Amino acid sequence: MIYSHAHYDHIGGAARFHTWAEATYPAAPITVWGAASSRDLVATSKAPRAAPVTRLVTQTGAGIDLGADLGVYMTVIGGHKGDDLAIYIPAGADGAPGIVHHVDVVFPGWVAPFTLALTDSVGTFVNAHRALLRLDWSIFSGGHLTRLGTRGDVWTSLTYSTDLIEAARAGTAEAAASGAVGDAIGTCLSPAHPRLATRCTPLSMSSGGWRLTGASGRCSPSGGACWAASTLC
Ligand SMILES: [Zn+2]
Repeated sequence: MIYSHAHYDHIGGAARFHTWAEATYPAAPITVWGAASSRDLVATSKAPRAAPVTRLVTQTGAGIDLGADLGVYMTVIGGHKGDDLAIYIPAGADGAPGIVHHVDVVFPGWVAPFTLALTDSVGTFVNAHRALLRLDWSIFSGGHLTRLGTRGDVWTSLTYSTDLIEAARAGTAEAAASGAVGDAIGTCLSPAHPRLATRCTPLSMSSGGWRLTGASGRCSPSGGACWAASTLC
């Protein structure tokens, strides 16, 4: 078992699978892999719904050799909770496609909801896209919403994210130039500055960097136009 990251909507029911696996394969040892934040979250939980992490995945990563030219690799790339894992099966010599599973940064066909998917750091959110694209895969699993993705979906999400941050920088600079001191976003939201409002209402600054505050944009799974619409907020 591998925990993608330290959020209970992904690992909170894992004890049930652990129990099932123990009963079904009594002779097989069960290893639960996870990064430090997953280990700590489960260790401090008062509900026994997630099996404890038994093998820590550190910054150097880890791998499981399953034989027959099949390996599963875990690498810490963050982007969401700080030490999120990319769980990666490289393309096979027999032509089998590579697969990567990384959760809550890229949502194929959708804008990342809720302040860039509640990221701890917008910088690592963006860089996680680049780290994913450095791996050799063609099938992307994001853990939420409606479908698997492609490398093109990760590129689209990267472009959206960088455009959004650039728009926020420009909008905040305009707000500051207009005479606002301190709370540039408050100026953006003011009815007296409707033009600025179209540029920078989605973002605000916090001690952790940029935070998306207003754009929980949605796309239809087949639509692409909404990406552009959200990008231009
Ligand atoms: Zn999450």
